[in-house]
Amino acid sequence: TMRKMGKGDLSVRVPVRGSGELRELAENYNTMASQLESLDKTRNQFVSNASHELKTPLATMKILLESMIYEPDMPAEVRADFMKDMNHEIDRLTGIVTDLLVLTRMDNGEEMKRGIVNMTELTHETIHQLTPAAEKNNQTLTGDVQEDLFFYGDKSKLSQILYNLMDNAIKYTPEEGKISVSLREEDGNIVWRVKDNGIGIPEEDLDHIFERFYRVDKARGRETGGTGLGLSIVKQMVRMHGGTITVESSLGKGSEFTVTFPQEGAES
Ligand code: ADP
Repeated sequence: TMRKMGKGDLSVRVPVRGSGELRELAENYNTMASQLESLDKTRNQFVSNASHELKTPLATMKILLESMIYEPDMPAEVRADFMKDMNHEIDRLTGIVTDLLVLTRMDNGEEMKRGIVNMTELTHETIHQLTPAAEKNNQTLTGDVQEDLFFYGDKSKLSQILYNLMDNAIKYTPEEGKISVSLREEDGNIVWRVKDNGIGIPEEDLDHIFERFYRVDKARGRETGGTGLGLSIVKQMVRMHGGTITVESSLGKGSEFTVTFPQEGAES
């Protein structure tokens, strides 16, 4: 017996009977319904995670603001600290919203702005951009960048890929640590490696770090200002360029991320 189908009820499956075209149609319908159902669940999960991430800084700001409102005699230094904290939470919120927009734009099939990108220059620029952050932690940041490497891709996405990987390497490496970045042509492919001698990633988490909102250590991730979206953005952008990303890491020793872009887009 067939259940009555409500409009948009993705849990309904039709009975598969007999043979021939009708059977094939029923099978195809069921496959499609399962795919849509799982897509629907993924979307709901995404919205619910995003809402949770947005609520956390809002709740913190509310507490800070309320205590300022209801304690007019609060010492000036405490008040100044509270305002700094609120400013920090606003930066967090802005970061989350920016990442969410980047992701949803890509999901909605935003066009790639491809052109010939000077990868050598882009790598030097990104290293330069992140040098102050590394210096703040007394970390050494070194680059081994091959000259005159070009790739046909979307410059701002390529730059975000390297930025996010280096930003993580800096965030998850203690003071005095070492971060090295390389750009090379290997077997005709363009290869980026971002290596650090930081805290590393536990084996059981390695399969998940590219998932949206996934953090190895939730508390620590938030402290360092992470959203858990950085690597999922990286992965999606690498894929849009036909590339691959891999990671090798050992806990307490460090991590190495390798991005490989295929030959076809590479131009020397
Ligand atoms: P986040 O915003 O939390 O940094 P990401 O998606 O960029 O989110 O990374 C997911 C998780 O992977 C991080 O929370 C962190 O635990 C782990 N991670 C990423 N890069 C590194 C690294 N270089 N060293 C150690 N852990 C890392």
